[in-house]
Amino acid sequence: MDAVVVGAGVVGLAIARALALTGREVLVLDAAEGIGTETSSRNSEVIHAGIYYPQGSLMARSCVTGKQLLYAYCAERGVPHRNCGKLIVATDEEEAGRLEGIRRRAALNGVELRLLTRAEALAMEPELHCTAALHSPSTGIVDSHAFMLALQGDAENAGAIFAFHAPVERGRVTNSGIEIEVGGAEPMALRARLVVNSAGLHAPRLARAIRGMPEAQVPPTHYAKGNYFTLTGRSPFSRLIYPVPVPGGLGTHLTIDLAGQARFGPDVEWIDRIDYAVDPRRGDSFYAAIRRYWPELPDGALAPGYSGIRPKTVPKGAPAQDFVVQGPATHGVPGLVNLFGIESPGLTASLALAEEVMGLLG
Ligand SMILES: Cc1cc2nc3c(=O)[nH]c(=O)nc-3n(C[C@H](O)[C@H](O)[C@H](O)COP(=O)(O)OP(=O)(O)OC[C@H]3O[C@@H](n4cnc5c(N)ncnc54)[C@H](O)[C@@H]3O)c2cc1C
Repeated sequence: MDAVVVGAGVVGLAIARALALTGREVLVLDAAEGIGTETSSRNSEVIHAGIYYPQGSLMARSCVTGKQLLYAYCAERGVPHRNCGKLIVATDEEEAGRLEGIRRRAALNGVELRLLTRAEALAMEPELHCTAALHSPSTGIVDSHAFMLALQGDAENAGAIFAFHAPVERGRVTNSGIEIEVGGAEPMALRARLVVNSAGLHAPRLARAIRGMPEAQVPPTHYAKGNYFTLTGRSPFSRLIYPVPVPGGLGTHLTIDLAGQARFGPDVEWIDRIDYAVDPRRGDSFYAAIRRYWPELPDGALAPGYSGIRPKTVPKGAPAQDFVVQGPATHGVPGLVNLFGIESPGLTASLALAEEVMGLLG
């Protein structure tokens, strides 16, 4: 093969599309039964503006560029989305004092936020309780499955082939490309000039299973689960509502999907193995946090929803990580690209990350 992409999540799909559009022969392998069954179907479906990421980081750059590419792509391909905007709300004077710092930080990333008085915020969202707020006009929501189907369609139209139930088990670097062994019901071995490891939560393990890939370049694997609780009944807000961030997290925020369903979360729960069960007891802490900005939240209105797991390259308590996109210049293996730690905003950034990978390949 010319190029193999391992992983048909949103990022692998965007990369497969970009490779196929340049005329390369592309095979996409995924262990699951279809596209986007892992983290890409377990997230908030928010088109992030790019507010909080450190200036110049790959997260900041790929989020801001990816957002623009994503809006344009959705408009062109008829992918359902809504540029609904988001409010970051302060509920006391101390929090209100931190809004200007957030606005300045976002501006460094080229993201415009507007400071709102209490009256201006309530004119937008009458059920809100706040002393001041920031408005992010470029934040939105997207139907991630429709987006992934469109990417798959583009890749297939450009000649890419998809194989499901095709787990890549190991590989070996040779003089004439990378050999990979695929397990599952129809095991096979193949050699590719280019292999993109876009295996999400499993990317570090796969990289370690490729003989010739320097182990020291593979980051450790940590998992931070994010649990959601859904709101029974109508959403009181038409925009996404975020509290002022707390150290280590964005706080218990509200997102809505395109059907108008509201959900709160994700929270942060460090775990040792992949387990998507949502512990209903975690909901207790949600009520108090939400009532700071929505005092009318009725008792019993939250139901355990779903969860997703953030692929972390750093442990709990460490400074925030950046996306890692590694090409031959970093690890020395010709034709291999690894993507590690593609947590949020990976959905927003997916089209930009595909461009980043294409850039590494020259
Ligand atoms: C709780 C949560 C909320 C989030 N919210 C947002 C948001 O609102 N907005 C946003 O922009 N981003 C968000 N994200 C981030 C976003 O969901 C991810 O960055 C993105 O989905 C990652 O896509 P991926 O293709 O890298 O990984 P995945 O979707 O996990 O895809 C990896 C694929 O690789 C396959 N695979 C794994 N190992 C192998 C193997 N050995 N052989 C073959 N196939 C293999 C898997 O089956 C899977 O299909 C959120 C993430 C989490 C966890």
